[in-house]
Amino acid sequence: MSSGKTIFKRIIDKEIPAKIIYEDDQALAFHDVNPQAPVHVLVIPRKEIRSLAELDPADAPLIGHLFTIVRKLAEELGLKNGFRTVINSGADGGQSVDHLHIHILGQRPLSWPPG
Ligand code: AMP
Repeated sequence: MSSGKTIFKRIIDKEIPAKIIYEDDQALAFHDVNPQAPVHVLVIPRKEIRSLAELDPADAPLIGHLFTIVRKLAEELGLKNGFRTVINSGADGGQSVDHLHIHILGQRPLSWPPG
């Protein structure tokens, strides 16, 4: 990557394509390129927050907004039987893109505990 931007920042800046299903002034949502369930969507803030571990208390309204988008998308995507939200943080958490994101997984039963 030449610019030092994360892949998600490049999606925000429309430098690379994504299957975007929701967009507003603070956030966007798009289909995961490597889906782990029939529905696998990522909700991200436009603001570059590297992970939940680096969240500022001032970002609380933004986080609330992201989860409101999750609720709306879960309804629109027909996840009537339930769904899972995941936020991976840091190396042990399995985070691979250093831009905060909420996974929405659904349309299949999901086991617990995760691996
Ligand atoms: P995490 O491992 O929690 O950091 O999640 C990163 C997610 O981003 C993974 O599920 C990847 O499949 C997904 N991903 C990586 N690059 C892209 C991309 N260009 N478009 C959509 N999803 C992506």
